[in-house]
Amino acid sequence: MPPLLQAEGITVAFGGRRALDRVSLTAEAGRVTGLIGPNGAGKSTLFDTVSGLRRPQAGRVRLDGRDITREGPARRARRGLSRTFQHLELFGRLSVRDNLLVAAELGPRRRHAARTADEVMDRLGLADTAEAPADALPTGIARLVEVGRALVQDPRLLLLDEPAAGQDAEETERFADLLRSLAAEGTAVVLVEHDMSLVMAVCDDVYVLDLGQVVACGPPAEIQQNETVLAAYLGE
Ligand code: ADP
Ligand code: MG
Repeated sequence: MPPLLQAEGITVAFGGRRALDRVSLTAEAGRVTGLIGPNGAGKSTLFDTVSGLRRPQAGRVRLDGRDITREGPARRARRGLSRTFQHLELFGRLSVRDNLLVAAELGPRRRHAARTADEVMDRLGLADTAEAPADALPTGIARLVEVGRALVQDPRLLLLDEPAAGQDAEETERFADLLRSLAAEGTAVVLVEHDMSLVMAVCDDVYVLDLGQVVACGPPAEIQQNETVLAAYLGE
């Protein structure tokens, strides 16, 4: 069986400048794959390309071995690909529950949207804030709602763009448990994250991007000691 996600040789240029230069990345069911690198490295652009919001100038995106490079985002979502955005895309005036409902009504469990939204709120510890408008939430909680909007779609592949930014230590610890349980259920998770202790705690594999190129990949313990990574990413 091919890996769930294979991005192969992805190149994206903005006005002649390469944001991604022949980037390849694989994500497998049941594993958390970390994607780290300094601001501007190309992490969010890679998510845009994998989720279908941006067409690469070169390269292929495969899901289950099938070439989906030319498919749009809605089609990819129906195949089980969900993502969150670094810049949150919540409906500010809608309640937490309604934000999840709107997403659930587009997903494979749309006939049970209300139940699905409630289950995901329980799982994320959002039940107490169900009626709060999204724009009144602290950032850490708003990020969880963004994750919830992806989870109600029952994804097989979940792309998370800095989901723990703005979370406190306790929230981050609970979030780590969530990621582990998603992987244990067979979800393929790709995690863009700056909190290195979270990356090291939950990722099975880590890719390091710098200036649009993969400069290292491997198990977290190796990545942490890789000279190129320390130079590029940690500035040491
Ligand atoms: P990261 O998520 O790793 O911080 P991004 O993928 O957001 O990096 O950006 C990678 C590079 O592409 C940066 O140099 C950024 O300025 C550039 N870039 C991203 N989106 C656009 C865009 N829509 N137009 C022009 N340049 C962009
Ligand atoms: Mg980004």
